[in-house]
Amino acid sequence: MSQEFINPDPSCEDDFDPNSMPVDAALQRIAQAVRPLRHVESVAIRGALGRVLAGDVAAPFDVPPHRNSARDGYALAQQSIVSDDGVITLTVVGTSWAGKPYTDPLSAGECVRIMTGAAMPPGTDVVVMQEHVEVEDNRIRFNANSPTASHVRYPGEDFHAGDVVLTAGKLLRPADLGVLASMGLAEVKVMRRLRVAFFSTGDELKMIGEPLGLGDIYDSNRYCLHGMLRRLGVEMIDLGVIPDTRDEVRRAFTEASEEADVVISTGGASVGEADYIAEVLEEMGSVNFWKISMKPGRPLTFGHLGDALFFGLPGNPVSVMVTFYQFVQPALRQMRGESSTFANRMRVPLASAIKKQPGRVEFQRGLLSVDSTGQTHVTSTGAQGSHILNSMSNANCFIILPLESTGAEAGELVEVEPFEGLV
Ligand code: AMP
Ligand code: MG
Repeated sequence: MSQEFINPDPSCEDDFDPNSMPVDAALQRIAQAVRPLRHVESVAIRGALGRVLAGDVAAPFDVPPHRNSARDGYALAQQSIVSDDGVITLTVVGTSWAGKPYTDPLSAGECVRIMTGAAMPPGTDVVVMQEHVEVEDNRIRFNANSPTASHVRYPGEDFHAGDVVLTAGKLLRPADLGVLASMGLAEVKVMRRLRVAFFSTGDELKMIGEPLGLGDIYDSNRYCLHGMLRRLGVEMIDLGVIPDTRDEVRRAFTEASEEADVVISTGGASVGEADYIAEVLEEMGSVNFWKISMKPGRPLTFGHLGDALFFGLPGNPVSVMVTFYQFVQPALRQMRGESSTFANRMRVPLASAIKKQPGRVEFQRGLLSVDSTGQTHVTSTGAQGSHILNSMSNANCFIILPLESTGAEAGELVEVEPFEGLV
């Protein structure tokens, strides 16, 4: 059992804390603890969206499989372009449609009307676009330098037979479903789905529909977690709200670890009187309790519960989301076999100055937008308290300010992590 209980003296309000761990170090330790899943299943390719490919997929044949036209126009043999005055006249002897090829051989002075995607007739090797052609009855006239081989698509231009087109560990996106279909594959092998159990802790938490007494709040964390986990396509086990007692926390731990690969709790994660997460995890599993030099989301309990990985996230909703995205999501992605778990980050100018105390990396909530000149910039969503969940709702990115930064001026480039790209 490894244990790293922190010196509790510096308060959560202090920005510099000698006992706190840098974000990168915590990420590294989590990555070292993750054991990727092994179990593989076959799914129909539509069902493979958002799943992780279990093995390399090699092309069974060239794609495209046949020479075909990239244009609507006329297919001909390069060698039939002979003329003294630079103008070519040819006879149209038939049409090659996409799916209905023209297969007869051509004689000198002949060409074939061809549609985009139609197979090139035997003996033809160039296409003249219909826009470059004058048509009169069954004859066409065009400039001798118009036909071109670049209007022809060759077998294997997308990929060749035997090429490894999709590699193990790839998270399958819409394009990949199309690539698999273009190979004629009905099914593909993917990693099994992760099973993630989660629960909230706190005596003040009420379920929707219950009246709120003084000091009560509705449990919002489980809804955010549901959303984040659903987007990751994991199987969810929602264990509800667990009261702040050792026995109830023990019971939840037992139930969660029996079924799940990963267990996530929120709340009760610091060192308050009713905070039992780290204590019970220590008793039932193995625990690392880290104060991480980040804001929000400083306390993070991480460890094992039986075979399951355990993440004890803070209670404040913004902290839950920030720590989920920064620590839990990369771990889940690694665990389900993804070969790359990096987050997309970019540097964007700040629309107006933001302040920050040095000593912690800050994940502020930001709004990326494009002004009338086409310039992208980012602005803070305003109040940044870790209980202000609306700051996440209003944001479309994190603004990540480094440990020692004291803020940034308008126009300065800051690092941002967009919440979503193409969906
Ligand atoms: P704790 O870590 O339990 O001390 O919680 C820190 C803060 O987060 C307190 O203000 C809690 O009321 C709040 N909190 C904890 N769990 C939730 C939850 N599931 N939904 C909304 N707020 C929560
Ligand atoms: Mg609590």
